Amino acid sequence: MIERHYFRDRLLKNFDFDFGFCIPSSRNTCEHIYEFPQLSEDLTLALRCRRLHTVYQSAELPETHQMLRQTVRDFAEKELMPLAAQLDKEHRFPAEQVKKMGALGLLAMDVPEKYKGAGLDYLAYSIAVEEISRGCASTGVIVSVNNSLYLGPILKFGSEEQKHQWIAPFTSGEKIGCFALSEPGNGSDAGAASTVARLDGDEWVLNGTKAWITNAWDASATVVFATTDKSLKHKGISAFLVPMPTPGLSLGKKEDKLGIRASSTANLIFEDCRIPKANLLGQPGMGFKIAMQTLDGGRIGIASQALGIAQAALDCAVDYAEKRMAFGSPITKLQAVQFKLADMAVALEGARLLTWRAAMLKDNGKPFTKEAAMAKLAASEAATSIAHQAIQILGGMGYVTEMPAERHYRDARITEIYEGTSEIQRLVIAGQLLKAYRG
Ligand SMILES: Cc1cc2nc3c(=O)[nH]c(=O)nc-3n(C[C@H](O)[C@H](O)[C@H](O)COP(=O)(O)OP(=O)(O)OC[C@H]3O[C@@H](n4cnc5c(N)ncnc54)[C@H](O)[C@@H]3O)c2cc1C
Repeated sequence: MIERHYFRDRLLKNFDFDFGFCIPSSRNTCEHIYEFPQLSEDLTLALRCRRLHTVYQSAELPETHQMLRQTVRDFAEKELMPLAAQLDKEHRFPAEQVKKMGALGLLAMDVPEKYKGAGLDYLAYSIAVEEISRGCASTGVIVSVNNSLYLGPILKFGSEEQKHQWIAPFTSGEKIGCFALSEPGNGSDAGAASTVARLDGDEWVLNGTKAWITNAWDASATVVFATTDKSLKHKGISAFLVPMPTPGLSLGKKEDKLGIRASSTANLIFEDCRIPKANLLGQPGMGFKIAMQTLDGGRIGIASQALGIAQAALDCAVDYAEKRMAFGSPITKLQAVQFKLADMAVALEGARLLTWRAAMLKDNGKPFTKEAAMAKLAASEAATSIAHQAIQILGGMGYVTEMPAERHYRDARITEIYEGTSEIQRLVIAGQLLKAYRG
């Protein structure tokens, strides 16, 4: 039995412990973790004494990140993986698991302690979303949206008062948030928003429809983008904080999706929805900038989700191929299968390095727009290709719900679409690349 403050005490000694000793096996770890209701506080204490270093100085992750990775992996293997197929089948939001993740600090990972967050960094966030998504891709996007798309812009652009009001209650898993940018008439062309907000005395009045909003049915608040001055085009878009439910805001039907079916996706319909004047986030006209900067961080989250799906598909393919006999031996003896596995592993590892690099640039306050787009593009394309090959390796068993390969294939597909399609990522990358070449 590990002492309750073992993690914290060891972390406070500058993380100089043998992680293998502290966690004898992945199965045991889960039980130990549940004896640490204040795990996130423990990690945060360590950070107070020494900020997580985010420079990739060696081939290994920093020890603190390794510990976090193991912790989240154990949680996902125990709490998410066994449930994922059922959640997917029933289109059921994992409410209980979300609360447990809140208790572990996973819903507000880079939010400072004073707003009740875990006080970690974006590399830690990326690692956590990957591990969660390896267990359940739907849960991965629920966590990613709350961290990057809802809390992210409030943390960066909110006033002190807004941070206390709109962040702290969304860190524990009791409440989650959503982000409403897309509309039925425009997704990639986000600057063409037709939802409007008009100031009427001390209130903003919102009208219009936001489409495809992740967490919509389960959220207690949304960051929403609406035009306050049409003549200024995208520079006339502003961002608002809207509680849910609230009069004048209704939800559309739950979309019946190909994958990530345990996360709810629906329209938000604003009909003379009145919110206090103080619910403007940032300044009037800053909405487009807020949305684009938020999506830069969000893309690291989606890249991490894609890595988790890809890893799960590869794990499934290797496990099956080692056991499946054909022509007298396991199919891993066949070079054709080995070549597939090698290509899958290379695509996955390359995408992971790109994702961690983007996260570390963000942690170090460096520009990371291009790197986040590269990470999302590489990881999402790797996930769809790896999930496709995993089905091929499983043969007929890849095509039925008895095995998770078909779910990974369905879940992977969305990562090439939301938070900017692959085409939009290529536009972002090429734009930045050409700018750099042209000086
Ligand atoms: C399950 C799900 C969850 C989502 N969650 C959210 C959410 O929480 N919040 C939110 O705001 N939105 C969300 N979205 C919306 C998502 O971000 C958009 O679907 C996405 O940005 C694409 O927009 P669109 O669907 O309107 O496609 P369109 O923009 O109509 O694009 C259609 C096709 O045209 C291509 N295309 C468009 N413009 C260009 C261009 N300039 N150059 C090259 N190709 C181009 C696209 O790449 C795509 O292939 C979600 C969507 C889904 C499906």
